[in-house]
Amino acid sequence: MIAVLKQGTTETQIENLSTWLKNQGLDVHISHGSMHTVVGLVGDTAKIDAELLESLEIVESVKRISEPFKSANRKFHPDDSVIEVGNTSVGGDIFAVMAGPCSVENEEQVMAIARSVKAAGATMLRGGAFKPRTSPYDFQGLKADGIELLLRAKEETGLPIVTEIMNANHLPLFEDVDVIQVGARNMQNFELLKELGKTRKPILLKRGLANTLKELLMSAEYIMAGGNENVILCERGIRTFETYTRNTLDISAVPMLRELTHLPVIIDPSHATGVARLVKPMALAAAAAGAHGLMIEVHNDPKNALCDGAQSLTPDAFADVMRAVGTVRRALAESEAN
Ligand code: PEP
Ligand code: MN
Repeated sequence: MIAVLKQGTTETQIENLSTWLKNQGLDVHISHGSMHTVVGLVGDTAKIDAELLESLEIVESVKRISEPFKSANRKFHPDDSVIEVGNTSVGGDIFAVMAGPCSVENEEQVMAIARSVKAAGATMLRGGAFKPRTSPYDFQGLKADGIELLLRAKEETGLPIVTEIMNANHLPLFEDVDVIQVGARNMQNFELLKELGKTRKPILLKRGLANTLKELLMSAEYIMAGGNENVILCERGIRTFETYTRNTLDISAVPMLRELTHLPVIIDPSHATGVARLVKPMALAAAAAGAHGLMIEVHNDPKNALCDGAQSLTPDAFADVMRAVGTVRRALAESEAN
């Protein structure tokens, strides 16, 4: 349920309303939008008398939210959410680009890639330390040592780091990680999501291989229900009958999610296609569709990468994508201004 407040409502009036609602056992979420202040109510709202609420002097209208996701719902928070990440952000005017290797392999590799993606304009460094591999015999990542190497690259380049968690018991290792990634395979690992909800770290939540947008939003809701509202959504392709590409990129997820939620939405064209030469056209499509950013795999020596070499861009190819994305973003801004 949401209550839209009249313009000119004072902070004290909002405070009093909020206390009254909390005393009825509800979680209260206040969003100061550009037009109106919206009070979102989460919990058992059946016991709330909507007519009584609507009759209050400061309340303009009351609506029940039919979707099962509440905190993530755009109706709760009409303006886009901007998630602060170190010296940058996701969801605001900055186009977030998280780039780096599928797996952190060694110091030389991660340092070289970090320097080159920074020079090309990436806003964050991504790299896998704990890797969810289909085969138990494949490289599983450098684990804690991988996070150490990412932190060294962060120290040198100043780029915030993004890396995947697979087990809540590893959380102490993620203390200095800027964005914690939940991979596609863990999108519905609800116990992990609940633990991440107790932190205040930005969480990059990737869409599951065969999950609907509603399920993605319900997983975001698990994190937000714990009090952590710093959730970034990532479309990374879904399973279809197509085999030329690793997955099928659902570009329509961007405008659809942007209607449904205030959370930032980024695209991962690398895992979506599995093919390096398809990353650029899909990155451009993502920017044109209104994504808030990209996650792209970059390797200094793709042929010898320990993981996902076929979809990894060389630093030069990545710089080319960045230039082209800039052109699309400028064209989009121009068309929006007209
Ligand atoms: C990754 O980003 O390295 C990854 C494993 O992606 P996904 O979970 O989308 O497969
Ligand atoms: Mn990968």
